[in-house]
Amino acid sequence: MKIGTPKELAAGENRVAMTPDSAGQLQKLGYECLLERGAGVKAGFADSAYEAAGVTLVDDAQALWAQAEIVAKVQPPTDEEAAGLREGQLLISFFWPAANEALMKEAADKGASVIAMDMVPRISRAQKMDALSSMANIAGYRAVIEAGNNFGRFFTGQVTAAGKVPPAKVLIVGAGVAGLAAIGTATSLGAITYAFDVRPEVAEQVESMGAEFVYLDFEEEQADGSSSGGYASVSSPEFREAQLAKFRELAPEMDIVITTALIPNREAPELWTPDMVESMKRGSVIIDLAAERGGNCKLTVKDEKIVTDNGVTIVGYTDFPSRMATQSSSLYATNIRHMMTDLTPEKNGTVDHNMEDDVIRGATIAHKHDVTWPPPPPKTK
Ligand code: NAD
Repeated sequence: MKIGTPKELAAGENRVAMTPDSAGQLQKLGYECLLERGAGVKAGFADSAYEAAGVTLVDDAQALWAQAEIVAKVQPPTDEEAAGLREGQLLISFFWPAANEALMKEAADKGASVIAMDMVPRISRAQKMDALSSMANIAGYRAVIEAGNNFGRFFTGQVTAAGKVPPAKVLIVGAGVAGLAAIGTATSLGAITYAFDVRPEVAEQVESMGAEFVYLDFEEEQADGSSSGGYASVSSPEFREAQLAKFRELAPEMDIVITTALIPNREAPELWTPDMVESMKRGSVIIDLAAERGGNCKLTVKDEKIVTDNGVTIVGYTDFPSRMATQSSSLYATNIRHMMTDLTPEKNGTVDHNMEDDVIRGATIAHKHDVTWPPPPPKTK
């Protein structure tokens, strides 16, 4: 079968779903690889590198969609791309089914199958296909770099001939995938790093990375926000108050705040309030990774950088992975290649869309003329 990758059409999207490396691996599974000419350029992969890896370049998107039985891309299909899907074709991309129900129905009506990379279940066996985690890891790293770029001082403390420089104090709110990556990056740059999460089980991991876990003066401790599957649930009002009180205490001291708090399928919880921003020092920086879902800070403007009257920079970019397109394309293409490996148990270049497999089932949102989302819970861990 032929697997093809078109150019991304969304504005500002620099990533590509197939790299020369992943194409080599896909060919080992028996697939023929196609790429729309120039699709990898913004991610740093030249057409010549794909050709050297045995990929056939196709001149335009229409020809690519017509020839490919499997299309791998980053962003959900545009209306036009979805309208062109056909019986038996397989599309693999981020899809956000809850936000794109009409597109999903259209794909199902057309008889195409869709694997949504954002729906890969967070179970151990699926980690190698977990594109949300790959991208969150990059976002966490890049959040710290972006903070540094907007901060007028060093992260690390220094004693120089010209004077003593205090280390920067960084607070990471939410120690999931993005938060842990941010903690690792901030501590490696020499900042004094603090982290808070509603899941107490992450405290040890936070501390092992050289950061200080922020505990609340609260009877049930952080246990309140724990739930299954590595995701948080909603906090009680009392817990939330205790959390906000602690943040109010910390705000004047922090130079950089990176917020990553997320509860699945909900708007981002508001955790960094305007009065906290008000109490921060001039020159401080907030990077709000939850901007896509409304932001953890009320003042965040999605996709923009603003500076408040008291001189605090608030960054609400939602495209951090795309700002590191070479790295993110490599990881995303590898996630897709692993998905293809599971879809090709015989390594014969033919898809075996096994709906009994938890990972494949979980990620499949349209199959054989049916919308297959939401999926049943996975049977394995
Ligand atoms: P995750 O689920 O692994 O981590 C989120 C963490 O937030 C969890 O550890 C959870 O316990 C914690 N949390 C939930 N409610 C909280 C609260 N009230 N207080 C403190 N912590 C709380 O998610 P992730 O994959 O790390 O993603 C984090 C965020 O980054 C998401 O909002 C995601 O959409 C975003 N993201 C942004 C970009 C970008 O470019 N801006 C890119 C990728 C991911």
